[in-house]
Amino acid sequence: MIELKEVQEFIFSQCSKLSTDEVEISKSRGLVLAGTVISNDDIPPFPNTAMDGYAVRALDTVNAPVELKVVGTLPAGKVPDFKVGPDEAVRIMTGAVIPEGADSVVMVEKTREAERDNFVVVEESVKDGNFIRQPGEDFVKGTELFASGTLIGAAHIGVFATIGLEEVTVFKRPVVGVMSTGDELVQGATRLEPGQIRDSNRHSVKALLDEIGVEVIDLGLIPDDEEKIESALLSAVEKCDAIVTSGGVSMGDFDFVKVVLDRLGEMKWMQVAIKPAKPLAFGLLNGVPVFGLPGNPVSAMVSFELFMRPALLKIMGYAQIWRPYLKAKAVTSFKRRQDGKVHFARVALIRKKDSYEVSFLEGQGSHQLAAMANAQGLAVLPNGEGVEEGDFVDVMQLSEPEIN
Ligand code: AMP
Ligand code: MG
Repeated sequence: MIELKEVQEFIFSQCSKLSTDEVEISKSRGLVLAGTVISNDDIPPFPNTAMDGYAVRALDTVNAPVELKVVGTLPAGKVPDFKVGPDEAVRIMTGAVIPEGADSVVMVEKTREAERDNFVVVEESVKDGNFIRQPGEDFVKGTELFASGTLIGAAHIGVFATIGLEEVTVFKRPVVGVMSTGDELVQGATRLEPGQIRDSNRHSVKALLDEIGVEVIDLGLIPDDEEKIESALLSAVEKCDAIVTSGGVSMGDFDFVKVVLDRLGEMKWMQVAIKPAKPLAFGLLNGVPVFGLPGNPVSAMVSFELFMRPALLKIMGYAQIWRPYLKAKAVTSFKRRQDGKVHFARVALIRKKDSYEVSFLEGQGSHQLAAMANAQGLAVLPNGEGVEEGDFVDVMQLSEPEIN
């Protein structure tokens, strides 16, 4: 058996960043910038009001309450064609340009209508610059806003839109092909004949890929037939940046995926010192990384988490490729045997006021997918006897914890 870390390092060393691509900003969330984004404007572009109220000269409010003459109204988007003179005010809405002559804004809540028409009472004095957003306060023209390597989130996309950027240069969104292998597998609602099971791996793995925003190609269900596996893989490498298979990598007589991969590519078939997900085939087929995940449904998902997810994030340019890890107190004990492997147990994760707790779920077999669905984390159990109640364990967090 090979240590987990060694296998991960080997895989990552074979996976390099993809080429770059121009994408519409609305398609860029979850991708990584492959160039610097520089501001081509001062933002905000002009002095404007942060409040609904009155644009005034601060000097005129010193003796508040004071009555000022209202000489106009300025909604956002309108260019003022008047000036604010002594003892004058302009009714102004958030985002509108500050008219010439005015140096501050009184919020509407600090004013009231005067008895005279077209006059307003300002009830408090304001300082010069009050509620005025100056040009370039967010950033000035020429600012290097985001460096290459930045993971694009919602606010980045907002900034792109603010500066009028319609497309950005990113590391390519990988196209990933997914196939399941196994003569016993069927798809969908068809009645199961004796010996048959429904293919779950293709669906769970497609969903895992969807989570990281790659483009998925469904390569279908392939029988345990050397030639069919071979032709499916060879046609897949033409159109994919990575391929994932499940099944056919263990020690059985009909485990042809590893046989085919070994014959066609620079493939390594490995026994990793982990449970679940001990068998793994990985290598390059015409330069395309192929992940041969084990067939058991929990193993396939755990293998994806430990090898394929971080490898894909790496080729997408991510600096941070790992799920979050945290320490949690076990509220149930969990026995395991010494077998030289690191175990990844399905756990319910609970967030307490300022700590985390885990309980080990029923049904820890690698074929028992329900516990995987009910788990918010995988507890990492080093080789040993297991965990007593009250022990602290490392947990790889898969989803949001329950709150208690
Ligand atoms: P294998 O790795 O092909 O020996 O498969 C190991 C176990 O996983 C067997 O019980 C298979 O029937 C099961 N299995 C393989 N592929 C799938 C799949 N796509 N969906 C559900 N179970 C599977
Ligand atoms: Mg099989």
